[in-house]
Amino acid sequence: MEEKIKKVIRDVPDFPKKGIVFKDITPILEQPELCRLITQEFAKHAKSLKPDAVMGIESRGFFWGLLVAQALNIPFIPVRKKGKLPYKTVSHRYDLEYGSAEIEVHEDAIKEGSKILIHDDLLATGGTAAAAAHIATQQGAEVCGFSFLVNLSFLNGEEHLKTYSQNIDSLVSY
Ligand code: AMP
Repeated sequence: MEEKIKKVIRDVPDFPKKGIVFKDITPILEQPELCRLITQEFAKHAKSLKPDAVMGIESRGFFWGLLVAQALNIPFIPVRKKGKLPYKTVSHRYDLEYGSAEIEVHEDAIKEGSKILIHDDLLATGGTAAAAAHIATQQGAEVCGFSFLVNLSFLNGEEHLKTYSQNIDSLVSY
């Protein structure tokens, strides 16, 4: 599975800035069978965590975030960059591999006491997923796990997430 996915991921050097090798996952989306296999793999792991909702991080975290939430028949909560959501929001600012950013969710999206699975396409420094976890816990929820398609393990992003949950799953790691 890991090799299958690695073959399809495209490396784009120096994007969005010099020195970053961008892992482009969009070629996977052109292969429906592989997309389905990935969904099944994520769903299998997610089921064991018994989440009440999936939080998916803009924008590539929406692809499988929603599919996994659908597979488990639970709500999907979009995490967006500041200024994109129309209703009242709760937000958190954080540093990432290139620059800094602020993410937010609708203030009524996360239910107090619920168990949340946080999903994104790629784990780099962990700043983005940790910011999402910060928002979830601030809203009175518990993070039951994280899932990523890709983990850039040499950046040790997992270290930023362990305080929220030890369940950190990725299908591919570099
Ligand atoms: P981080 O907060 O450093 O873990 O960065 C994770 C977020 O930035 C994810 O939403 C990724 O999509 C994106 N990202 C960071 N580095 C890369 C990379 N080398 N290739 C593709 N996406 C990346």
